Amino acid sequence: MQYISTRGGIDPLSFTDAVMMGLGVDGGLLLPCEIPGIDSETFAAWQSLSYPELAFQVMSRFIDDIPVPDLQNLIRQSYAGFDTDQVTPLIHFGNVHILELFHGPTLAFKDVALQFLGNLFEYLLDKNDAVMNILGATSGDTGSAAIYGVRGKARINIFILHPYKRVSEVQEKQMTTVLDANVFNLAIQGSFDDGQAIVKEIFNDIPFKEAYHLGAINSINWARVLAQVVYYVKAAAELCSQGYAGPIDYSIPTGNFGDIFAGYIAKRLLPGGTIRHLVLATNSNDILSRFVNQGDYSLSEVVQTSSPSMDIQAASNFERYLYYLMNGDALRTKTLMVDFLKTGQLDLRDQLDHIQQDFLSTTVSEEATLKTIRCFKQAHDYTLDPHTAVGVHAALEHRTEGVPMVCLATAHPAKFEKAVAKATGARPIRPKVLEDIENKAARCNIMAAETEAIKTYVKAHARGAIVS
Ligand SMILES: *Cc1c(COP(=O)(O)O)cnc(C)c1O
Repeated sequence: MQYISTRGGIDPLSFTDAVMMGLGVDGGLLLPCEIPGIDSETFAAWQSLSYPELAFQVMSRFIDDIPVPDLQNLIRQSYAGFDTDQVTPLIHFGNVHILELFHGPTLAFKDVALQFLGNLFEYLLDKNDAVMNILGATSGDTGSAAIYGVRGKARINIFILHPYKRVSEVQEKQMTTVLDANVFNLAIQGSFDDGQAIVKEIFNDIPFKEAYHLGAINSINWARVLAQVVYYVKAAAELCSQGYAGPIDYSIPTGNFGDIFAGYIAKRLLPGGTIRHLVLATNSNDILSRFVNQGDYSLSEVVQTSSPSMDIQAASNFERYLYYLMNGDALRTKTLMVDFLKTGQLDLRDQLDHIQQDFLSTTVSEEATLKTIRCFKQAHDYTLDPHTAVGVHAALEHRTEGVPMVCLATAHPAKFEKAVAKATGARPIRPKVLEDIENKAARCNIMAAETEAIKTYVKAHARGAIVS
């Protein structure tokens, strides 16, 4: 399988080159040159597979430059640390099914992709006798999942900036209690935006980036999307193995459009009609809902909600879908994205029919989010986290009789204790990994929010720097 850029400026690449490139060097996002489809016999055969076996079947449709036993090993290794063999269990509440994606080490769905990406990076670096220094900024959740993805890896150091005392205590401790020598937590005296701006500035210094082998781990890496396709297929396989013949709807709490885009790939991969609607659920940051419902993709201010991992305006994976919406016309995609960067808006009203064949959407208010947590707890004695609750609320609005609705549960409720307590009056029970986390040993550097200071730190602690 060859990979191309949404902006058309890159010669076709192998999967491993696409993974190492991350963001396309032409500014576009990388995609497979075609989306393979499987027939119903193949899908029927997949229904008896374990999660790692199924992951191999799905991923090998998109990867042809890693030897089979190596890919199988990478997958096995990546999911062995989940706290259930099912990896992503599906819990049934009548016609609503909760797909629990939070059984990895940091209790959020990002582990599903970042455990795999960390192992994949280490494997590819090993093959080329190379090293990498990962640099990223986090507002809370991604940082810990990235750190857990690469902790203890011999060829990788990771530097994660978070805004000092502006992430929750649990989030901070999930990052800073990782004591492996290759992990560097930098708490900057500034905001998340300051952290992001610093990281961006450092990546734009190309000689620095090359001398220090900087790498990114953000959600635009194709390998992350691919790892997420698997659980859509797994949930469909499970429902179909119980005698149901489709179609199935999914509801996805959405921020950067990475998770739901994986659903779109799964929809095209599976036999026609298996996946019907993808419900795109947003919190008050509703740019993507306006896109689906009105064809209006235009920026507004980021507002803070109780589902902080979705407090996003410009969605980093949106361009991938836009490319398909433009029927693979890279020139048009590029023109639209350049326009968007200039004006902060895109008018896609003429595409509404097409968009609404793929997605339905609802914006969920803070009040409705908390109410959903409360009502679901009362009805089913099951606690949703605020992100998942956004998805469940939208799901209940778009559900049709007789069609299963799979709601993606993207975080464990104990990660968002305060919001859950506000909704239900009781703190959720902490799983073992979070017990007493406030009192565990931690390591973190408090630093000024200045690019030069961060650069100096990275220089001093980078792996394998070529100093000229
Ligand atoms: C990242 C995240 C999301 C949003 O996923 P996208 O791929 O950015 O759309 C939703 N819920 C949680 C808990 C997350 O961490």
